[in-house]
Amino acid sequence: MSPTRVLVLNSGSSSVKYQLLDMGDGSRLAVGLVERIGEESGRLKHTPAGGDVREWTGDIPDHESALKAVSAELAKDGLGLDSPELAAIGHRVVHGGRRFTAPTVIDDAVLAEIERLIPVAPLHNPANLTGIRTAQALRPDLPQVAVFDTAFHTTMPESAARYAIDVETADAHRIRRYGFHGTSHAYVSRETAKLLGRAPEEVNVIVLHLGNGASASAVRAGECVDTSMGLTPLEGLVMGTRSGDLDPAVIFHLMRVGGMSADETDTLLNKRSGLVGLCGDNDMREIRRRIDEGDERARLAFDIYIHRLKKYIGAYYAVLGRVDAVAFTAGVGENAAPVREAAVAGLAELGLAVDGDLNAVRGDEPRLISPADARVAVAVVPTDEEMEIATQTYALVMGTKGSGNLT
Ligand code: AMP
Repeated sequence: MSPTRVLVLNSGSSSVKYQLLDMGDGSRLAVGLVERIGEESGRLKHTPAGGDVREWTGDIPDHESALKAVSAELAKDGLGLDSPELAAIGHRVVHGGRRFTAPTVIDDAVLAEIERLIPVAPLHNPANLTGIRTAQALRPDLPQVAVFDTAFHTTMPESAARYAIDVETADAHRIRRYGFHGTSHAYVSRETAKLLGRAPEEVNVIVLHLGNGASASAVRAGECVDTSMGLTPLEGLVMGTRSGDLDPAVIFHLMRVGGMSADETDTLLNKRSGLVGLCGDNDMREIRRRIDEGDERARLAFDIYIHRLKKYIGAYYAVLGRVDAVAFTAGVGENAAPVREAAVAGLAELGLAVDGDLNAVRGDEPRLISPADARVAVAVVPTDEEMEIATQTYALVMGTKGSGNLT
């Protein structure tokens, strides 16, 4: 029997998140996280399916020792990286530019292209590359697949993907709207169609991925036609710590009048803005608690968050023309009923409403929260980026789906 396990790796500069999945039955065999790689004391948290959490702190100087520690933990349950049951390793890669439109088996040319994209993803692609090279060194015989956050959005038409700036300058610097969270938008739009009992090709969906990072997408017949993140994950919705949309002249103003450097404005907009900049908290639970206590700053932060969200729902309604469903996902979207309620409040004319009782129900399964007679379905659809990466990786190595390899 051919191997059915896929290890999914999400490598950051000082962390590696991982999951081992069995694509034979779709089960999750283990999940874990290595943190503080290269720092004074590293930490590994490992949870085998049906078992207790195992935590470990110690010296984890680099990604190689991190992956070896992961393999050692997996080996305790007979699931080590050297197992013949392992079919492939799937890597989350944040930026695939325009050329990676599908999951891709990694070879030297692919590595070189991911490296060439570092200027547009300076924080993420170097860490992703380190994770890939480390995994390759440990299992050189195994197919390693890159699954790109940007790939789902490569179907966006030029009218949505281009900024209205000088074309030559834009092209010289590869400035365009790439979009991110693509594996989540792909997974959730498909799961939403399934929830409606229809094929993805038959439905138009607005997906609202509301986590600490947040993005919206307009998906027509299974293909992304617009998304709210752009050249980087800074554009679009109000997020935990990022501003989302603003007049670009704010940046010149901060530099010329405020005396800030480019790096300082970058940090301000990415790390000290959004909900945290508006009210000091980026956790929606804490913001709701403060609102309940009458905190005005928390209230205003929430209102700004909702106002922006509502503008995107309206914009994507217009882009799609006909909307079959609006799907909420990720930490806020899956858990924060008041956000869902406020986002569609007053949109009955567009056929959008939530049922209070259904919206209050908590759960891990995809579910409808709109009234039974609603013209547009409103749904909560938990995202599963690791499952999507594993599914795409496995389909590629089993030859059931064409590779997006560079031509
Ligand atoms: P994510 O990036 O998808 O992991 O989402 C993380 C965010 O989800 C947190 O910063 C919180 O704002 C939000 N969140 C998680 N759980 C809840 C909850 N029970 N209620 C409201 N917001 C939540």
